[in-house]
Amino acid sequence: MKKAFEKYRLEPDQKVQLNDWDTLETSAWDGGKKDAKLHLLELNTQLEKLQELLYAERKQRILIVLQAMDTGGKDGVIRSVFKGVNPSGVRVASFKVPSALELDHDYLWRIHKQAPAKGEIVIFNRSHYEDVLVVRVHELVSEKVWKKRFDHINAFEKMLHDEGTVILKFFLHISKEEQKIRLQERIDNPEKQWKFSSGDLKERGLWDKYRDAYEDVLEKTSTKSAPWYIVPADRNWYRNLIISTVIIETLESLNMKYPAAEAGIEKVVID
Ligand code: AMP
Ligand code: MG
Repeated sequence: MKKAFEKYRLEPDQKVQLNDWDTLETSAWDGGKKDAKLHLLELNTQLEKLQELLYAERKQRILIVLQAMDTGGKDGVIRSVFKGVNPSGVRVASFKVPSALELDHDYLWRIHKQAPAKGEIVIFNRSHYEDVLVVRVHELVSEKVWKKRFDHINAFEKMLHDEGTVILKFFLHISKEEQKIRLQERIDNPEKQWKFSSGDLKERGLWDKYRDAYEDVLEKTSTKSAPWYIVPADRNWYRNLIISTVIIETLESLNMKYPAAEAGIEKVVID
């Protein structure tokens, strides 16, 4: 599926109507689900090696942003795509309802603190984009305030990029029908009930408002240095393949090298 993912990457200023983006399609993969799952295991091994190199080189920082409607599969991506990577160099930052201390600061304060260090991959499970999504939909700040945030976010991400952070942003795109199935599964399966909150139903009722807010995010904040990918996400295996492939291709394009050995290492004798 080399390069086939490119059709999911948004160009800067590209107009987005999410209803036109199929959530079920699997056109960049010729095989079926079984082959895809086997291929993902190979990708896991490739990612493990690339991450080792990233960690050894300690030059680049990698930031991966995951956003989705509830049940969109952010946790599943983290589990499946990063299976086997060395936890020393990978970190997940999950952004929940801000604390009182966080609310006392600007909205990017808690975000910047979690940005990756050299050699590190950080996965944002939700992100600063909540400040133009949930915050907008629930009118937690005025329109005048959230409208300015697209420019702040683009400037913030540009700064991170200019200072050596590679940024990839994935919107896991599920359909409203698929969300219904997944929420029902959370209610029916005792091992998933902990994930369910009745608040999720209230959010589901706001589906169209969230969709409009996401369309704005995707149109206004996909940039050359921090592109968005719209990932068809009704099928978990396809979603995982796309994201894993994009991350691997991006890491490969960095031409990373292991640091040079100490001079004279070839003459070292251990007795
Ligand atoms: P979960 O990801 O299911 O653990 O839920 C985290 C909750 O925190 C979601 O309902 C988010 O919308 C909410 N959340 C995250 N960031 C913010 C924010 N900046 N302002 C308000 N709510 C937020
Ligand atoms: Mg939740």
